[in-house]
Amino acid sequence: SPIPDYLRELLDRCTGNEQGAVADYIPELARANPDRLGIAMTTVEGATYTVGDADIDFSIQSISKPFTYGLALSDAGFDAVLSKIGVEPSGDAFNEISLEEVTGKPFNPMINAGAITAHSLVNGADSEARVERIREHFSALAGRELSFDEAVNSSEFDTAHRNLAIGYMLKTVGILEGDPVDVVRGYIRQCSLNVTARDLSIMAATLANGGVQPNTGERLFWPSAVRQALSVMLTCGMYDAAGDWMSVVGIPAKSGVAGGLIGVLPGQIGIAVFSPKLDDHGNSVRGVKLFERLSRDMGLHLMETP
Ligand code: GLN
Repeated sequence: SPIPDYLRELLDRCTGNEQGAVADYIPELARANPDRLGIAMTTVEGATYTVGDADIDFSIQSISKPFTYGLALSDAGFDAVLSKIGVEPSGDAFNEISLEEVTGKPFNPMINAGAITAHSLVNGADSEARVERIREHFSALAGRELSFDEAVNSSEFDTAHRNLAIGYMLKTVGILEGDPVDVVRGYIRQCSLNVTARDLSIMAATLANGGVQPNTGERLFWPSAVRQALSVMLTCGMYDAAGDWMSVVGIPAKSGVAGGLIGVLPGQIGIAVFSPKLDDHGNSVRGVKLFERLSRDMGLHLMETP
């Protein structure tokens, strides 16, 4: 079939790219095999195509952020979420210790400050309850039971000084309720959920499909939450490379420091790539390259004149 052949050719063209480095600020991530490369694509009709390392587990990391944001919107409601988390691109790194000057809110839910806040707005009395709700929801999105990478989870929590600093900052200004350490613990655990490129492509296809999981037909997000999540992915999903990404690739996307990268073409497909070596923004080098080619070859850019 032409799609896998095309995807294979695409992968082969990127395999030689040795740029970037695996994340090492989370010690356990430094042990990842840097040569992994996989791609998966799922249509809104539920057809999945995969090539390469598409069934290898890795931690979801920041790709959890738009999905947890969607869950917070449905659990806490738009007003509560928007009163605590902005929707402005920050132009800063993902782990910037920052708040909007005028409103005192985290800039957006894709940087850690906003994502930690979004985690706190998911239903559940403590981090354990919130994390289980998130795990169940993500499992429904992926269409299989997901579990945690315990080594990544404890490795990240043991070295989480910066995210703890962000948590205390959010507590000080009244954005976080409850124990900030417990909230950061839950956020880090959410980031340690294991997924494959295949899983992520189905999760992305659920967003492309307006919140209905293409294989099970289950409604997992309301269209309004999907629209909101895709909007912040489009403007903030690639952090301080968001403008570059928008002009070259032109679809909503989200990256994670374990090397995952998803893109969503509303009404059509979800795409996921896995390759652990990252650029200076924390985005997968070969992932970005693959998306650039895909977008050009398949005319995915949302601003393309039909
Ligand atoms: N858990 C990671 C962190 O908070 C997620 C970062 C990312 O994937 N960009 O540092």
